[in-house]
Amino acid sequence: MPAVTRIADLLAAGSTRSLEFFPPRTEDAETQLRAALADLGDLDLSFASVTYGALGSTRSRTRDLVVQLNAEHPYPTMAHLTCVGHTRAQLVRLLDDYAASGVENILALGGDPPEHGDDAGDFAYASELVELIAAHPADFSVGVAAHPEVHPRSRTRAADRRHLAEKLRDADFAVTQFFFDAAEYERLVEELAALGCTRPVVPGVMPFVSVSGLRRMSAMNGTAIPAEIERRLEGVADADVPEVGIEVATGLCERLLAAGAPGVHLYTLNRSASVRRIWEALGPVR
Ligand SMILES: Cc1cc2nc3c(=O)[nH]c(=O)nc-3n(C[C@H](O)[C@H](O)[C@H](O)COP(=O)(O)OP(=O)(O)OC[C@H]3O[C@@H](n4cnc5c(N)ncnc54)[C@H](O)[C@@H]3O)c2cc1C
Repeated sequence: MPAVTRIADLLAAGSTRSLEFFPPRTEDAETQLRAALADLGDLDLSFASVTYGALGSTRSRTRDLVVQLNAEHPYPTMAHLTCVGHTRAQLVRLLDDYAASGVENILALGGDPPEHGDDAGDFAYASELVELIAAHPADFSVGVAAHPEVHPRSRTRAADRRHLAEKLRDADFAVTQFFFDAAEYERLVEELAALGCTRPVVPGVMPFVSVSGLRRMSAMNGTAIPAEIERRLEGVADADVPEVGIEVATGLCERLLAAGAPGVHLYTLNRSASVRRIWEALGPVR
């Protein structure tokens, strides 16, 4: 039987476990990624994904890493793709290239507007990229981003959910921004269902490894750090922070899966140690 390689089909078949990587920019970062991939090589991954640089510097690296991972591993690797700042022709060329290279899964993203307001491109929202991909002759499986705690640019919670439900009409599934309170995820899924949208929403879980990184990324993405986590981090030495990150992420994954999440997507930060520990704690996929 041929391997299932479209993420929509994998989600339809059962619970998924997946990992996000980013394309390295330096030789040291490349070495770190290769070590992480080697160390995680024996995990039973459903799929992986590779982020896409908003400012252009890692765009071709994303493409090259996605094609390489798809060639080297039995699981499919999804390419993240942002549309703001791109022309239609640029994106069609990249989609043609992905199709020709056998890449079947795309995470269609808006991306962040350029800081100086120039280089506006042809697109304003991820939904337009979803439409472009749907019109492409290749049968891509398409994911989109969801923000349990509401996207920082959303004017209201209701507008955030309405736009998400609209872009999910033409997409297959969503992957969420990281968050720490399982109730935020459950509320998101309920709000989508109330809008008639029942597409799978895969929660993104980030095992933090430093307090500064946790605060920086949470502030950037509008993620609240619950008082309980702040309390657990009080007086913890820097070297012991990853251990707290593992405990928090494992507990969150367990609650999400028990609440009916279709899988979990771990933000690896191109490191393997925390991911391995969480994976082992979660046990085999049922
Ligand atoms: C799982 C995940 C992976 C990510 N990977 C990357 C990556 O690889 N590279 C990267 O640069 N960034 C990445 N991001 C970040 C993402 O690009 C940013 O959050 C970006 O600001 C918005 O992307 P989006 O796809 O949510 O955009 P959109 O869906 O376009 O939404 C952006 C904002 O516009 C609003 N909106 C949408 N449609 C309309 C409309 N028709 N009218 C008015 N308002 C509207 C939405 O409610 C929201 O507030 C990722 C985010 C997530 C959750």
